Amino acid sequence: MKSLPTDPVQDEHGLGGVHIKYLHHCPRQLWLYMRGYRPEAGSDLVAFGEAVDATTFTRRRDVDLGEARIDWVTTGAVVHETKSSRAPSPAHDAQVRHYCLLLERRGVNVRGGIVHYPLIRRTTDVAWNDEARDQAEDAEAEARAIIARSTAPERLTRAACSGCSYLDYCWGT
Ligand code: SF4
Repeated sequence: MKSLPTDPVQDEHGLGGVHIKYLHHCPRQLWLYMRGYRPEAGSDLVAFGEAVDATTFTRRRDVDLGEARIDWVTTGAVVHETKSSRAPSPAHDAQVRHYCLLLERRGVNVRGGIVHYPLIRRTTDVAWNDEARDQAEDAEAEARAIIARSTAPERLTRAACSGCSYLDYCWGT
């Protein structure tokens, strides 16, 4: 395993979309990621996702917030996120809510978000309101609590780990 890039406990303002996505997928994955274990960087799935992202909307511009890179934001502050997945997931909505929260903290009057699934030609709307803000803040607090743990969270069930890029590390397969 690589050495720690930063002290995750001290890194209170550096949570990006990937942290929230991993939190919802598997807390152990978030914990390992923060400690430098990042097999997904070279995985076929990630490369596929990046290819879908790069070829679907060619005229948009990323919005770089430092800790997070938002796919793009349209007039009225609607956050857009593109996924290569064929299955809409609550984790994707949570990621968009996190981006809404980060933008709002920078003084942007956020209207909401849209997750794009080009492979199945679907979009899902993500509301931004008081409830969504509470959800985003709760997720952020939960992620920080996971990151601060001194030991790794338990593995998910073997079936739930199917397709995870951390499979080798967690299960030695
Ligand atoms: S292999 Fe399973 S336990 Fe390990 S990070 Fe992935 S989902 Fe979590």
